Amino acid sequence: MKELATRAVNLSPSMTVAIDTKAKEMIAQGIDVVALGAGEPDFDTPEIIKLAGIAAIQQNKTRYTAPDGILPLKEAVCRKFSRENGLEYQPSQIVISSGAKHCVFNALLALVNPGDEVIIPAPYWVTYPELVRFLGGIPVILEAGIEQGFRITPEQLNAAITPRTKLLILNSPNNPSGAVYSEDHLRTFAQIIVQNDIYCLSDEIYEHMVYTGKHVSIASFGPEIQSRSIIINGISKSYAMTGWRIGYLGASLPIARAIAKIQGQATHHPANISQWASIEALDHGESFYCGMRESFRKRREFVFNELSQIPHLKVPSPEGAFYAFPQTKHYHGLKRPDGKPIAGSLDLCTWLLESQRLAIIPGAAFGMDDYVRLSYAASEDILHQALSRLKAGLAELV
Ligand code: PMP
Ligand code: GLU
Repeated sequence: MKELATRAVNLSPSMTVAIDTKAKEMIAQGIDVVALGAGEPDFDTPEIIKLAGIAAIQQNKTRYTAPDGILPLKEAVCRKFSRENGLEYQPSQIVISSGAKHCVFNALLALVNPGDEVIIPAPYWVTYPELVRFLGGIPVILEAGIEQGFRITPEQLNAAITPRTKLLILNSPNNPSGAVYSEDHLRTFAQIIVQNDIYCLSDEIYEHMVYTGKHVSIASFGPEIQSRSIIINGISKSYAMTGWRIGYLGASLPIARAIAKIQGQATHHPANISQWASIEALDHGESFYCGMRESFRKRREFVFNELSQIPHLKVPSPEGAFYAFPQTKHYHGLKRPDGKPIAGSLDLCTWLLESQRLAIIPGAAFGMDDYVRLSYAASEDILHQALSRLKAGLAELV
């Protein structure tokens, strides 16, 4: 048979999705796995939002919609951007897609030509460099480890820009490190972006999960940066709606229309029912995410206290998201009781899954092999079990 397309053969699967799927399969088989792999709130979707979804079905909101989403949802997104981020958009500048991940893909489809360079700070969410490569673009990775608070400096950004640079991908609060960029830091980035006339894709999906300080959208520093920014967000994390698959973006009119055209050919639009439920989330979901954030704040304290008691782990205390990203480098190079060496974060996570039934994600997935990622969007009971398994697994390495 003829071969598959090269781009499909060369695409790596998402490691976060792969580990989460494996852990869920093992749990379904009755295996006692503690899963801190996926970044997914353990809360249920709030009742008022579920009722809005049910009402949408009963009112027969079950047919095709416009490719870029229903107008009432695009208006709700405009209200949200204005209220929470100080950003003014017209509904024609908004595109609703099947999750923020889909928005990222759509934005890259609209912007990246083969050979274009895309600057991506590391640690990065697994999906960014993979999708850039998928489109023939060149990811330019800027490393920012624990010693610089997982934040790239303006000097790093300036030095990386070439005539082939198309855009910078920013993700604050960051998955996997939890780092949040300050307003001053972002203002400097905005100036660099405008001066060099590049674009900025800003993935702000963790904006409501900030524990110290506040989230600022890079597009809020004026029209010049707003017109070069694609602001991506979604309902998955803030309203515990990962399976409803709704994400949205705001962009300049030409970019938004290009994305709508692409989506109109590729998927038509995200599920009609989910779109109606999302209006309820955006208009009336604030108390829900505030409550969830307080739960995460307590869990975060617990997780960081426990992690900092484990010898040889370097544990940063990030300001946002719901991940811990400790440095496990000391354990790389040690041996398992069966004599097998732990070469890096992948071996370490394999060992923890095999010996302790603990699913966490190797830092290698995020471009930083010296670390591992744990999600603390899990119940306190699960977190207790996870931390004691982690301690037990690490203690067996010599
Ligand atoms: N961006 C980041 C940084 C994420 O961690 C995720 C996690 N799912 C997404 C985007 C995509 O979210 P979704 O597609 O569920 O809206
Ligand atoms: N974003 C979540 C994570 O990083 C869900 C999985 C994914 O989409 O990558 O775990």
